[in-house]
Amino acid sequence: MAAPPYKRGYMRYISTRGQAGEAGFVEMFLAGLADDGGLYVPAEMPAADLAGWRELPYRELARRIISLYVGEELPAEVVERLLGQAYGNFTHPEVTPVVPLGDNLHILELFHGPTLSFKDVALQFIGPLYGWAAQTYGERINILGATSGDTGAAAIHGVAGLPGIKIAILHPHGRVSKAQELQMTTVVSDNVLNLAVRGDFDDCQRIVKDLFADLAIKRRYSLRAINSVNLARIIAQIVYYFYAYFRVDGGRGGPVAFSVPTGNFGDIFAGYLARRMGLPIERLILATNENNILERFVNTGDYSLGESRPTYSPAMDIQVASNFERYLYYLLGEDPAALRAAMAQFKETGRLAVAGEQLAQVQRDFASRAVCNDDCLATIRRVHDRFGYLVDPHTACGVAAALATADERPAGVPCVCLATAHPGKFEEAIRLAGLQIELPPALAGLFGKPNRMTVIDNDREQALAELGRLYG
Ligand SMILES: *Cc1c(COP(=O)(O)O)cnc(C)c1O
Repeated sequence: MAAPPYKRGYMRYISTRGQAGEAGFVEMFLAGLADDGGLYVPAEMPAADLAGWRELPYRELARRIISLYVGEELPAEVVERLLGQAYGNFTHPEVTPVVPLGDNLHILELFHGPTLSFKDVALQFIGPLYGWAAQTYGERINILGATSGDTGAAAIHGVAGLPGIKIAILHPHGRVSKAQELQMTTVVSDNVLNLAVRGDFDDCQRIVKDLFADLAIKRRYSLRAINSVNLARIIAQIVYYFYAYFRVDGGRGGPVAFSVPTGNFGDIFAGYLARRMGLPIERLILATNENNILERFVNTGDYSLGESRPTYSPAMDIQVASNFERYLYYLLGEDPAALRAAMAQFKETGRLAVAGEQLAQVQRDFASRAVCNDDCLATIRRVHDRFGYLVDPHTACGVAAALATADERPAGVPCVCLATAHPGKFEEAIRLAGLQIELPPALAGLFGKPNRMTVIDNDREQALAELGRLYG
């Protein structure tokens, strides 16, 4: 690849599995997954400047934090320009505003981007970043990703109209909401391929992971990752943990808890990195729906596959969470050999367990609750009745988990609930909760527009044939 080899002054990234070379930011970003099948993590954590960052507006805070992870590789004015491009498309001047609900609960609204989910916060930045890499290094950019609904829409909108970029997104056929489907399929362009797979999200993710793991295919097509296996995405999400913290800590610098509706463990891992940078996060509250592999891990130490069940929060209907490997790497003492052994065991038996001091560490890092379908709808109603605020079903899982774990926090610790989607995006669940919402204009306009997608079986070879036609 034509991206520059590692130089001094670059930020260094290493693979969790320890068998791939170090990479700078651009090489890490373009590779997505490391060549040994591991995930990139920073070789050293940059330190937060809590005093210096407190008063900064969102975009400037983003520039400071992202610059720490980019090192000297991207000129400051490039980072500035890309951030301008990214957050100019948000409809709220604060980008990610914080709304106090009462009872020490706050909502961090992450849905003011073009596709109304938090995925825009990272992908509106990643799109132009790919554009910059294509221009600067003449890199071929063929993006491949799997989505449970929101990533695909945000990724397609992040790169729409950028020259030289092709994008293919796999989604589970009929298992994303109509609005999500239309957000993806109404971007009708020869550079965009929507593959609807007869299967669930894990099937889509497996096909994509499999193609990235096949280095011959990855190189032949210059495949680029848009899923949160790409650490650049997570880096962009670290910013709002700091931004929200400064809005709710009352200037005291005390601990704050964050409740995160979790699927692939990307968003919450950004919070974990913020904490490792020095942000006083009391604990991260890991909220799942009925697909609760991660909740079982936090509360019992058992990480074992279950059946995937459809819920009102489809973006969290996930069994194998890609980013979990990153957390496990830190939990196992940043020891790649131990991590490799754990991953091999999981692959073989579908199960992995921690106990003793390791489990105690997990429970210092996280609290967790699995929120069942009924409780999700009840929470939408409850938050509406009590606070006059409407949350989407994903956010409702986060609020329910925050309320259920309140007794486990020291008194007076504020809790920020990440609102990961606009409620209008999941209108059906809102209706089932007995409430109403008008479709936001960004969605209402999609119905009746021309749209295009290709339906395929849950089959790697069929996917590959379609990808070959797109990427050429
Ligand atoms: C993607 C998504 C999630 C899950 O985020 P992860 O980073 O995969 O854990 C939660 N809520 C919504 C609305 C999403 O789109």
